[in-house]
Amino acid sequence: MRYAETGFNLEIDLSRGNIERVETDQRLTELHLGGLGTNAKILWDRVSPETDPFSSDNLLIIGTGLLCGTPAVGANRTIVSTMSPQTLFMGYSMMGGFFAPELKYAGYDKVIFRGKSPKLIYVWINNDKVELRDASHLKGKGANETAELIRQELKDPNIHVAAIGLAGENKVYMASIEQGRSSASRQGVGAVMGDKGIKAIAVRGTKDINIARPAEYIGLCNDVLNYIKYRAEHPIKNVEPIFEGLGSPQEMKLIDEKWHTTGFMWGNARTRRKDYWTKEVEEKWRETQESVRTRLISCYNCPMKCGAIISVPGISTYMMKCYSKLTYTMAAFSNLDFGFTIAQRATDYGVDGFSTPQTMAFALELYEAGILTDQDMPGMPSDTEGRFYWLLDRIVRREGIGDILANGTYWAAKQIGKGAEEFAHNNIKKHEQLPLKLGMLNPVYFLMYCTGEKANITQIEGQFPQEPFPNREMREEFVKDWIQVPDEKFKKYFLDWEPRGENANPLYPTPQMASEIVEWMEKMHYIDDALGVCAGLSSFPLKPPYHMHNYPAFISAATGIDMDQAGLNKIYQRNRNLVRANNIRRGLSRADEKPPEDHWKKRFPEIEEKLLDTYYEYKGWDRNGIPKKETLNELGLDYIREDFEQRGIIKNE
Ligand code: SF4
Repeated sequence: MRYAETGFNLEIDLSRGNIERVETDQRLTELHLGGLGTNAKILWDRVSPETDPFSSDNLLIIGTGLLCGTPAVGANRTIVSTMSPQTLFMGYSMMGGFFAPELKYAGYDKVIFRGKSPKLIYVWINNDKVELRDASHLKGKGANETAELIRQELKDPNIHVAAIGLAGENKVYMASIEQGRSSASRQGVGAVMGDKGIKAIAVRGTKDINIARPAEYIGLCNDVLNYIKYRAEHPIKNVEPIFEGLGSPQEMKLIDEKWHTTGFMWGNARTRRKDYWTKEVEEKWRETQESVRTRLISCYNCPMKCGAIISVPGISTYMMKCYSKLTYTMAAFSNLDFGFTIAQRATDYGVDGFSTPQTMAFALELYEAGILTDQDMPGMPSDTEGRFYWLLDRIVRREGIGDILANGTYWAAKQIGKGAEEFAHNNIKKHEQLPLKLGMLNPVYFLMYCTGEKANITQIEGQFPQEPFPNREMREEFVKDWIQVPDEKFKKYFLDWEPRGENANPLYPTPQMASEIVEWMEKMHYIDDALGVCAGLSSFPLKPPYHMHNYPAFISAATGIDMDQAGLNKIYQRNRNLVRANNIRRGLSRADEKPPEDHWKKRFPEIEEKLLDTYYEYKGWDRNGIPKKETLNELGLDYIREDFEQRGIIKNE
């Protein structure tokens, strides 16, 4: 019997219209867990590095995490993996909501698409019955509308649907896969879904998931619930409200946006407005938010309610969560009511709420600089809000200048030329990032931004505070109940980290300490992404309920696999190197590992080189960031070593 996982994948060849239910190899679960780990293994095995993201040989994997569908709180992530048209590397993007548990209940751990459908289809997975159905009547429909039409057509309101909007159909690089209560938005996964001719995947499942040791497992789940309650009653002291608790940043509850609006950048990551937040603005924003937020909602089996149903008069309702509340507003130098209104259209078109507003602000900056002209923007309105709608409509249709902008700022700048590259300044690995500009180089965050394979800083952040606390008393207070640290040394690193002086950025934490801290942060992300646990309850907040001390017990009780911290650490290392190997084979090198160029005002090239050298060494990689032979052999990744040797990536001595 298989525990926690179903033991079956759905393999769908869209070119042939062939559907197979394939039993998986349990040994792979022991080596990689599930989710991101096994997705990366499948991509390594089956997608050659020469494969173009829009080739029919590219795969689109809709994977569930190993614990999804079990009673583990917040285990609901779908991990969508493919070769990304945006970065040209392996892309993986997560969505919460209800989709992954439903897919497990239908009897599948993953759906693996290959080929391309000759006509637009949607997939209907109803337990053992799986069909590819004509979707020509859904062409051009919004993502949320598509989901609703499919539920009506199949006469079941409980079906969960992941759909693309117009942007995905038109292979816009920033196209998302929308799922009602969440979306997989980054790295162009919606564009690949559109390229494959899949409008939507609808799923309904009524089967059970087996748990190896149910009583023990329920006890662990209850411990997590109790901790969530405790943390709600005992917010972390001395930090911004956004860091006090758990979950995704609680933007739908919070009204006070002083921290974001005065600290983050407006426009295309350009301008800080230090005096923006006033009593008047707060009152106005409160009124706006409370008038459109009809109720707070959660993902499957989670009490956190990070999202909200937003209902702006005159347009259909949609779900919003997290920092996307502010991305359109701040990119357009506008107001919150604009942000809530345009986000509805953007969600139905199915676009990433981070890249899209930045790309539109980038276009307007080019226009103001005379690099784009009236000839490029015929009929564009004169007001900024009107311009944002105008640009959005053209980007998702790939019309006129929208066809160039649809590829994001990096590729658009290259195509436009005339100095446009200077304006595409907020990318990592060709992908737009959070709009931040800070003062002094922060060693830990430098390494996370540079070396993270998600190409997304919001998903790299973690349990080690982003800044030193002002004084030692505050730091001592913080470490008192810091049970999540995998090693006591991290408490000392934090206690000694000062805002100024010898033990301050950029010299402290030292490169060695920074490498160790980064490994802890990324470890939690890799484990979450393999288990399908929401980062909001593990790798993202400062003091989460899931951590290295209780994860092994969860995995053991759920799967029956004998797991301890050393074993889990090895799986993380294996998955980390496997994802990296996919990218190395596609050309990733040290030259790609740099933060957005003006993320920090004060940069230190020598320290930055030293940081990368030390981190690579600590990871068992060479100076170019390529895993060494002994590292690969040690992790049982000798097939990667052999491939690298054959390709001349590492020497066969
Ligand atoms: S913490 Fe928030 S985002 Fe995460 S599963 Fe719960 S409701 Fe969803």
